[in-house]
Amino acid sequence: MAWNKHYLTNMPNSISTTSWDVIIAGGGPAGFFAAIRCAELNPQLKILIIEKASQTLGKVIISGGGRCNVTHACFEPAKLIAYYPRGANELRGAFTKFQPKDTIEWFESRNVKLKTESDGRMFPVTDDANTIANCLREAAKDAGIKVHVGTALLKVEKNQMGRFQLEVRSEAQVFHLQTKNC
Ligand SMILES: Cc1cc2nc3c(=O)[nH]c(=O)nc-3n(C[C@H](O)[C@H](O)[C@H](O)COP(=O)(O)OP(=O)(O)OC[C@H]3O[C@@H](n4cnc5c(N)ncnc54)[C@H](O)[C@@H]3O)c2cc1C
Repeated sequence: MAWNKHYLTNMPNSISTTSWDVIIAGGGPAGFFAAIRCAELNPQLKILIIEKASQTLGKVIISGGGRCNVTHACFEPAKLIAYYPRGANELRGAFTKFQPKDTIEWFESRNVKLKTESDGRMFPVTDDANTIANCLREAAKDAGIKVHVGTALLKVEKNQMGRFQLEVRSEAQVFHLQTKNC
């Protein structure tokens, strides 16, 4: 997607010569959200997302039949966890910190409006999952996060200096990336 290229780093060398504060493996919604949150909390951080596929957020684009069922109009954590037969107790704590109301606000603050259907499912008003994917990409770009697609994480090791060293494959070559000291 041409849009994507704006904030993708150009060559594997450009990522392997940088010492990153945070490297996130996987350019799905979890990786993007985590990267954006890290950048919000500390704008000085150098953050990289590596994605093995040729594009980020592939599942988001096909989610909800191409419309992306972003969240559900249920705003009480105690009721919300009833929708999760497995892991309800673990989710209770998480939902007291971040729940559908926060999701709606997060997207609205980035000019993405959601609508509620009669069964409580919430979708972007555009009925297009690309609205959600592009919002996440735009937020990452605005936060200065670098994204490198076609780059698969092969191995992670922590060296004696406390740095993480990552072995990645990109364009049929193996490269090494590293973080700063922890
Ligand atoms: C058909 C379908 C419809 C769905 N509809 C909805 C919906 O409407 N609403 C909803 O909330 N959820 C929906 N889901 C579920 C939703 O897509 C997932 O919950 C969500 O994508 C999980 O996000 P994630 O970031 O954890 O993982 P993923 O989206 O799977 O992202 C992980 C990323 O990591 C990359 N990766 C994996 N290994 C490596 C590696 N070694 N190196 C680098 N990159 C790597 C993958 O290529 C992928 O891009 C749907 C799922 C499917 C399949």
